[in-house]
Amino acid sequence: MTNTHAIVIDKVKESKIAKTDFDNLTFGKTFTDHMLECTWRDGEWQSVEIKPYGPIEVEPSCKVFHYGQAIFEGMKAFKDATGDVFLFRPEDNWQRFNASAKRLAMPEVPEEIFMEGLKKLVALDKDWVRYGEGLSLYLRPFMISSENGVAAAPSTEYKFMIIMSPAFAYYKGDVRVIIASEFSRAADGGVGYAKAAGNYAASFYPNNLAIQEGYQQVIWTDAASHEYLEEAGTMNIFVRIGDSLFTAPHNDRILNGVTRRSVIQMAKDHGIHVEERRISVNEIREAAKDGSLKEIFGSGTAAVIVPIKGFKHKDFKYELPQLDDSYASRLKEALKDIQYNRAEDKHGWRVKI
Ligand SMILES: *Cc1c(COP(=O)(O)O)cnc(C)c1O
Repeated sequence: MTNTHAIVIDKVKESKIAKTDFDNLTFGKTFTDHMLECTWRDGEWQSVEIKPYGPIEVEPSCKVFHYGQAIFEGMKAFKDATGDVFLFRPEDNWQRFNASAKRLAMPEVPEEIFMEGLKKLVALDKDWVRYGEGLSLYLRPFMISSENGVAAAPSTEYKFMIIMSPAFAYYKGDVRVIIASEFSRAADGGVGYAKAAGNYAASFYPNNLAIQEGYQQVIWTDAASHEYLEEAGTMNIFVRIGDSLFTAPHNDRILNGVTRRSVIQMAKDHGIHVEERRISVNEIREAAKDGSLKEIFGSGTAAVIVPIKGFKHKDFKYELPQLDDSYASRLKEALKDIQYNRAEDKHGWRVKI
């Protein structure tokens, strides 16, 4: 494999940006002018191409359709008041991407392809990163198996791509959840820690059932006993009991979120007692009954921090108290201040484009 990967850039003739209505975007529906594509073939990564966003041609036998080797990342670029653009902890995403790749028997993507490609692509479509409250550019690196043929074996060809979509504050409205007592999203020894597309596919049906009951998300519990909280939908979970904050320890069933890590660090910076330990359903039901359960929130790149307003577990229902100065809002503001270059970056999380 060569160490330097030349990036070939083919620019659009005319940008779509003038025709884009940034005030009426649907999350994840609008894409910027360019995308990145790099193919792995004959045991090595070929040249990196940045080209106009558009369809890719694949045959029906393309392996990803049959055996689901597909992984992705979710990251964001932010613009500050002076027009500078920043990524947030992008190396963490690159490392996780390769951990996912390894688990799905896919080739790892070298740092210079992932990081340099990403930076070049964001720099090229810089105008699509809008400055303003909650605005960002959502970055979606992903990889699929692209060999043709239906033999059940790892592919001999893969496509690594990055597409980008202008984003605004993601979740709207109140979020109430059902704590899973039947379904699971991940199991011991499985792929829960990987950002595998199939994890999402497996979560849609239980999530639809929750929606039918008037809830928005499922809180996943451990597959073996359904007694311990694991994740909040597609986010990591935090629970505040009294003045202490708890989050499930990451293991092979739980995705180790970049936002989760950042929230833990910021809670410490704010003098909040925070612990990574198992949280049982019983414990939060008891804390709900005695009034010490103060907050539950999810953390993830798309929505940053999402407070959960209420939950249901079997026949037990509970509405969380409305707090004026919640940890969720404090930590969310602190995190956004770093992302938008409004606060000192003590931990070196921002990467300027
Ligand atoms: C992506 C994801 C998260 C959040 O990870 P971040 O790095 O914070 O965006 C949490 N749980 C699951 C299942 C995810 O797929």
